[in-house]
Amino acid sequence: MTYFMPTKIFEDEGVVSKSLALLKGLGSSALIVTGRHSAKLCGALDDVVAVLERGGISYCIFDKVSANPLISQNFDGAIFGKGVDFVIAIGGGSPLDTAKGIAVLLKHGTDDYEEKLFGAKDYDALPVVAIPTTAGTGSETTPYSVFTDEEQGTKRSMARRVFPIYSLIDPRYFMTMSQKLRNTTMMDALSHAIESFLSVKSTPYSELFALETIALIGKHKDKAFDETVSLEVMTELIHASTFAGFAISQTGTTLPHSFGYPITYDYHVEHGFANVMFMQDYLQICAQDRVARVLDALGFASTQEFGVYIDRLLSESLEPMVVRENHIERYVHMLMANKVKLANHPGGLSEDQARHMYQRVFAKF
Ligand code: NAP
Ligand code: FE
Repeated sequence: MTYFMPTKIFEDEGVVSKSLALLKGLGSSALIVTGRHSAKLCGALDDVVAVLERGGISYCIFDKVSANPLISQNFDGAIFGKGVDFVIAIGGGSPLDTAKGIAVLLKHGTDDYEEKLFGAKDYDALPVVAIPTTAGTGSETTPYSVFTDEEQGTKRSMARRVFPIYSLIDPRYFMTMSQKLRNTTMMDALSHAIESFLSVKSTPYSELFALETIALIGKHKDKAFDETVSLEVMTELIHASTFAGFAISQTGTTLPHSFGYPITYDYHVEHGFANVMFMQDYLQICAQDRVARVLDALGFASTQEFGVYIDRLLSESLEPMVVRENHIERYVHMLMANKVKLANHPGGLSEDQARHMYQRVFAKF
């Protein structure tokens, strides 16, 4: 059994402006990686630029990362940032994940870039500093990156493992999230914790963080129906997300993530919502003594009661899905081919079970 968490985390209001010495230790030039708007909106970009200018660290800003980023955005970012010493990522999971891929290509060159990101040979990366602004993916404390693969019509994980060297967490940056974004990211963190806890790879170390995540989200679950939350509540939701990152760093995720990826690709359902669409059916095929501990930590009496909560949340958050064609057989095929994720699920999954789960979700949403 191992527990490995090399990322140093600093959490404080104003943490970025207090981090000059850390950043100077990484070099004299940085690439800042963000999405189009939110890094400016939440104030993080201004804080980063101010600290870099104060320290005489040169920088360039790649602000073109989209939600559910394409593999090719790693190439574009690495071409743009060529020659820098380190990477600073500001945003949700999409910019954080992309910064990790860019950091691999900045170190090893952009030729044959898909091979460098997904191939068998290992490549390390320039240092990545993660500044999260959503509370869900845990990418600030995981080594993972997830990209949209247009050829396969789904999402897939980068083969390289890149832990951020530092994570700088300022709870104020999360307060500009909309209710919907806060909820889908909260559901992502919850699914990380539940999947980690129910994985064959769960250990006493990962369990500690998984159960604490579930308890924190259980404590605040009804806030999902409030338009805004206080900074204190937000801070606990950030902890939930980061703790879930600790948990999946050790175990990875399992079935709800695999089921949800093509739903995000084809129907643009946000990642966290796409995971929990499958949660009720998933819990029914897991070991019931473990499921009872999840429900207890969440504060639900039964899987069905949890299902009613998820259905209410999704019905308030999502447009009805218009199933354009019958995608189910393709999804089942991709799922059964994903041996790594399937191996994380105790007892395995049959094709019929997978088909049934997709049928139920398509019928419901
Ligand atoms: P995201 O895709 O990074 O961002 C979604 C939207 O939220 C974007 O429009 C973004 O705007 C906006 N946004 C971000 N922070 C905001 C803030 N503070 N205020 C207002 N708007 C804000 O969302 P995410 O859910 O955090 O990340 C999802 C991605 O992470 C998916 O690709 C998923 O597969 C991946 N993921 C990774 C891991 C991992 O371990 N690495 C785990 C789970 C999921 P801008 O575009 O303007 O920034
Ligand atoms: Fe996730």
